Amino acid sequence: MTEQVYKNIWRIGVELPGNPLRELNSYLLKGEDTWLLIDTGFRKEACRQALSAGLRELGADIEKTDVLLTHLHSDHSGLAAEFAGKNRKVYLSRTDLKYLSMNIANKTVAERNARFLEEGFPPDLLEENARINPAMAERLQSLDDRFTPIDDGQEIRIGEYRLKTIVVPGHTPGNTMFWMPEQEIMFTGDHVLFDITPNITAWSWVEDSLGDYLENLLRVRNYPVQLALPGHRKSGDYKERIRVLLDHHARRLAETERIIRQNPGLNGYEIAGRMTWKIRAASWEEFPLAQKWFAVGECMSHLNYLVKRNKIERRTEGGIRRYYALNGT
Ligand SMILES: [Zn+2]
Repeated sequence: MTEQVYKNIWRIGVELPGNPLRELNSYLLKGEDTWLLIDTGFRKEACRQALSAGLRELGADIEKTDVLLTHLHSDHSGLAAEFAGKNRKVYLSRTDLKYLSMNIANKTVAERNARFLEEGFPPDLLEENARINPAMAERLQSLDDRFTPIDDGQEIRIGEYRLKTIVVPGHTPGNTMFWMPEQEIMFTGDHVLFDITPNITAWSWVEDSLGDYLENLLRVRNYPVQLALPGHRKSGDYKERIRVLLDHHARRLAETERIIRQNPGLNGYEIAGRMTWKIRAASWEEFPLAQKWFAVGECMSHLNYLVKRNKIERRTEGGIRRYYALNGT
């Protein structure tokens, strides 16, 4: 399904079967004789078919197409190598390119698993999750020399348009948005989504990804955005949405701190089980495993934020991290 969103800019809906996000928004920009494709889909057949059909419908030639990625997640980057021309480029922020290459080389999984275990995630569930998690099979399998790092402030040109790179770490360590200053159009990727809250997890070797995320919401809040083009689902009022997201995390942080104050000594897994989630499940035990893994990651980013600001204290007891409130009652 394609939809024109602006002169020479189209949205291609790439379905994500079985994924709660439902669809990826891929955007195609037309230049004089070249094309720029922003984000692609999982490296799986349903996504490949949807993207191919969209490009065919719009008359785009893959051999004349560059790919621009908002971030490394495989629902965005999975098909990048297949949908960029042989002599074209695949742009991704320098930091996400580094993380993506580490992911492909399986250099992040050990650190992450060790951390989830320390936060109290049950070892059998962690193993089970690794078995059912599609992220590995459906991500890019290798990088090649078309992959080109981009940095904050760098401009990508296509036809009459220029897109300015804004690096906004949080959702991923090198997460990126693209700004078209003359048209006041913002490609928000997954930094600002409108009817779902972007997942903020605790990344390997990142001290405080939620702090980074909130700081980067503030940083981009005042852009005079006329049209926001998000990575998933529908668009909306940009500035108002940022206000709501800031408010959401302030409430989540307060809730996390309250849980710890009332139940000193819980681990991250137990704290996540006491937080409120939108998922319909009778209890924490009955939470779907993949969602549970995301929930604990999300909880960990809130714990890191509170630890860094001396709201709570982390003590490692018998190999498990446990949390205690600081600063009075
Ligand atoms: Zn994402």
